[in-house]
Amino acid sequence: MKKITAIYPGTFDPVTNGHIDIIKRASGLFDKVIVTIAINSNKKPMFSKDDRIEMLKNSLKSFKNVSVDYFEGLIVNYAKKKKAQVLIRGLRAVSDFEYEFQMSLINSKLSQELTTIFLMPNEKYTYLNSSIVRELASLKGKTDDFVPAFVRKKLNQKFKD
Ligand code: ADP
Repeated sequence: MKKITAIYPGTFDPVTNGHIDIIKRASGLFDKVIVTIAINSNKKPMFSKDDRIEMLKNSLKSFKNVSVDYFEGLIVNYAKKKKAQVLIRGLRAVSDFEYEFQMSLINSKLSQELTTIFLMPNEKYTYLNSSIVRELASLKGKTDDFVPAFVRKKLNQKFKD
């Protein structure tokens, strides 16, 4: 039977419980899932690539068919290299839709072999994103409900006086 590899690209600055909800669903649906950090020189992430990889690896170690990687350039080229047939994106609310719709149409023009699949998280994560978590941590707010313990520690280290 054909094995399906899915890639899940994002900034993951840092990984949140919302991302992990999506990864858990993808891990149950596909043979292999590659969570991959998009390196974009126009974006200035708070955490380095190595920190983000470390946080992802630590948060995802119980998922045996999930690996962590990074890429630069076009996602369709990366997908080809990894022989991935599916691109996962998370949809939280209608506000995500327009941008995601546009990206998926562009990607489908660039590659007919890659299909974008949207997954919705549990509703308790629909308001959650990495920038809210960063802001909360910078104000010394509790992030326990939003990120795994390892990520919480890294956030606390960043914002200790
Ligand atoms: P980007 O900068 O590309 O939005 P992110 O790392 O923030 O990168 O997100 C990667 C993917 O995860 C996107 O498809 C985004 O919609 C999705 N995502 C982010 N947060 C959540 C969440 N709380 N629930 C579901 N999907 C999410």
